Amino acid sequence: MITRQFGIPVTSPGAILRRERDLGTALGLETAETTQLGGLVPDKIIVELIEDWLRLHGGHGFVFDGFPRTTPQAESLQQILQSHRTPLDLALWLEVSEQTVGDRILSRLQCQSCGFTTSSTSAVFASRPVCPYCDGPLVRRNDDDVTVLRHRLEEFNAKTQPLADFYEKLGALRRIDGNRDREAVFADISRLIEQAA
Ligand code: AMP
Repeated sequence: MITRQFGIPVTSPGAILRRERDLGTALGLETAETTQLGGLVPDKIIVELIEDWLRLHGGHGFVFDGFPRTTPQAESLQQILQSHRTPLDLALWLEVSEQTVGDRILSRLQCQSCGFTTSSTSAVFASRPVCPYCDGPLVRRNDDDVTVLRHRLEEFNAKTQPLADFYEKLGALRRIDGNRDREAVFADISRLIEQAA
């Protein structure tokens, strides 16, 4: 939604790793077990992915989805931004209850080609699971399961939660109630991006 509305490229290490796994590359195979079990991939691998992506797409603004997830990743990102002479405008913190997360992943469908995400509760996609943007197949993720979610939440609480303080201290953190529908959440995100522009 951010890319379509503002023309800002978005990347996500999770999406990159899923594509690498589907392509059967060395990186995809090396990280497949960790991602499937809901663990965090080593910081060095993730930071290299981001640096590679920035070399190709950086320059006119960008959004990272699911990065950084640890304090060392956030520190690396600060160095990377400095070397690109790009200030950090916003750290968007989507607050969702464990109940909301659980409900959403159980019905999540994701386009295997472009990453568009929707829900099988949406009648249009339940009957015809095809991406409206690129015609790719809408599939369930293999880590969208209750046991994996428990591990992902443990990782989040132990390693990602401290980043709220990290970005609060930098004055970049904006908290958004993510328990609402996507239009309401996106309206808040849009306003924050417009204010930061
Ligand atoms: P996501 O698509 O953001 O839900 O990420 C899927 C999986 O990819 C995660 O459960 C991790 O195994 C891995 N992953 C994605 N982003 C990161 C990150 N920033 N640091 C470590 N592992 C990550």
